[in-house]
Amino acid sequence: MHTAIRNDWSLDEVHKIYQTPLLELILRAANVHKQYNDTAEVQVCTLLSIKTGGCTEDCAYCPQAARYNTGVQVHALMQKDEVLSYAQKAKQAGSTRFCMGAAWREVRDNKDFDRVLDMVKGVNELGMEVCCTLGMLSEQQAEKLADAGLYAYNHNLDTSAEYYGEIITTRTYDDRLETLEHVRKAGVTVCCGGIIGLGETHDDRIKMLHTLSTMPEHPESVPINALVAIAGTPLADNPRVDIWDMVRMIATARILMPASMVRLSAGRNSMNIAEQALCFLAGANSIFAGDKLLTTPNPSFEEDDAMFQLLGLKPRESFKEEKKLVEALGDAGAPAANA
Ligand code: SF4
Repeated sequence: MHTAIRNDWSLDEVHKIYQTPLLELILRAANVHKQYNDTAEVQVCTLLSIKTGGCTEDCAYCPQAARYNTGVQVHALMQKDEVLSYAQKAKQAGSTRFCMGAAWREVRDNKDFDRVLDMVKGVNELGMEVCCTLGMLSEQQAEKLADAGLYAYNHNLDTSAEYYGEIITTRTYDDRLETLEHVRKAGVTVCCGGIIGLGETHDDRIKMLHTLSTMPEHPESVPINALVAIAGTPLADNPRVDIWDMVRMIATARILMPASMVRLSAGRNSMNIAEQALCFLAGANSIFAGDKLLTTPNPSFEEDDAMFQLLGLKPRESFKEEKKLVEALGDAGAPAANA
């Protein structure tokens, strides 16, 4: 039976899916994954921190918040050429998406933003999907990024609307949703997911997945992060996220949003290959590569390469959806050979 893409999930339905016995859940998710995606393919993305630390926000998990003493080295916005050389290296190592992260509360219309726009143009010219995560955006700023060639914008919901205030007090859930609307309106694809291990309940996780999967359009990319507890942050002593919780989140996200890229994100560094394989089986089809994830450790390109070979995975090409569309239009527009 083919699974339809739905945006009208009820909270009760999401509950039921999330609470399915684990092996049954994985089987169901794997089946949906096979209907919509090439299960041998994993998108390889590289994330670079282009402006590090000194952030005015108070996200309880984040080592880059200025108010926590985490030892993160503050770094002003990088130069364009330096960023482009990182992007070039990431491309050579097999990454097809390059994401640039700046520890800002919001984007300001100043020279730094102009420099980011130049970086976006430069990475786009390398033939990579270019993504940014820069904090809150106005509609006009989203349009400027789109004009520069931005492919995706990352802005995570982190957790449920109900639990959000326990984690961040310097902005609201509605602020998040507003930025996401601006991104959509500008025609940029949306990368939006969350973090588990913040002290939230299963109900909070279910509510977050419900919010994501009932958006008018599903985010094209849904990162599922496991908290990397950093000394100096308020969540430093939170217990490590159980792998089964991660698998359950990924499988539920895959069933709810069949065609989205579900990204196994932060926390991968502490997973062995068997654990990561379970996540791929449950429907994860995107990872971050490179030995750093903004400021926290991540498996190296070489380790991932070995894992891909072992599991028979291959990196997904860039702009795959667009290429499929162009091919389909080409076929539809071409005169039939025997006409
Ligand atoms: S806004 Fe981003 S950089 Fe700033 S504290 Fe929150 S997560 Fe960290």
